[in-house]
Amino acid sequence: MTKEHFLEVQGLKKYFDAGRPGLFSRDVRYVHAVDGVDLQLRHSEVIALVGESGCGKSTLALLLMGLEDPTAGIVSFEGRDITHLNDNERKDLRRKIQMVFQDPYESLNPTQTIEEIINEPLVVHGIGNNKNERDERVKKALEDAGLKPAEIYLNRYPHELSGGQRQRVVIAAALVLEPEILLADEPVSMLDVSIRAEIINLLAELRITRQIAVIFITHDLGSVGFFADRVAVMYLGRIVEIGTMLEVLEKPQHPYTKALISVIPVPNPRLRRERIILQGETPNPIDMPQGCRFHPRCPVVMATCKVSDPPFVALSKTHQAACLLLVK
Ligand code: SF4
Repeated sequence: MTKEHFLEVQGLKKYFDAGRPGLFSRDVRYVHAVDGVDLQLRHSEVIALVGESGCGKSTLALLLMGLEDPTAGIVSFEGRDITHLNDNERKDLRRKIQMVFQDPYESLNPTQTIEEIINEPLVVHGIGNNKNERDERVKKALEDAGLKPAEIYLNRYPHELSGGQRQRVVIAAALVLEPEILLADEPVSMLDVSIRAEIINLLAELRITRQIAVIFITHDLGSVGFFADRVAVMYLGRIVEIGTMLEVLEKPQHPYTKALISVIPVPNPRLRRERIILQGETPNPIDMPQGCRFHPRCPVVMATCKVSDPPFVALSKTHQAACLLLVK
């Protein structure tokens, strides 16, 4: 791990037991949810993790949070291996890595006031010497999440707020612990289009004001805008392309990335790209295709792709050159 990387993932895998295919079969099948991910995150960097649902991005987030145990691989944070921690160590880590879930309706306890919701993590982690100190932290978290003045929200219940305000409360409940990383799992997909930009702007602001690194998980590359520093594209449990936002948007290398970009709506009709509609369904993650896992849907598939599985595609080469190098 270099000094600038404070979170690093190497060869991370998570396979879920999918049972036996038949009553008398001895073979156990596995869902390859995350299947060899390498990723590094820098201080206050924003990475957009993009891919269609079922590609493993949410499982990856749960692995980073320690909410799932990996099948293989290593996760390091600030130079320390955090792959297998005990409950106390894990609790300590949660102060530094917080998650914002997709559904603000389900993330909030409807019987608690906003003040109780934001205060709870402080109580669980034993933070604050007295009530006054905790109250100040609760108010600051609410205001940093854009709910100002905090006093008017403290005694309300989640059902009295709009969807956007509820998602801000979820973000405030994460901020109150002063984390270093936010894992935001589809944080805007349940919100009205008009509110989405507000929440993305809020995360962009927090990254500057609180120096927080963000992993922004989304199925919609178009929703990321220019908020992310880097984009990692995931397909069937693997990162197939990673680069700066500009590199990926302007010079995508992987055919899957090209297809994702081609369907981003563009307001100016003159700038519209040709849409690439992928044929077929995403393969079953229990029964991965041989060779490149994208080959059944790839518009530029070659015979060799059905036998050779290219590793991560470097942006310095064209994708096909990388494939050809591999099979030489
Ligand atoms: Fe397509 Fe072959 Fe590249 Fe896979 S290895 S993405 S099938 S060109």
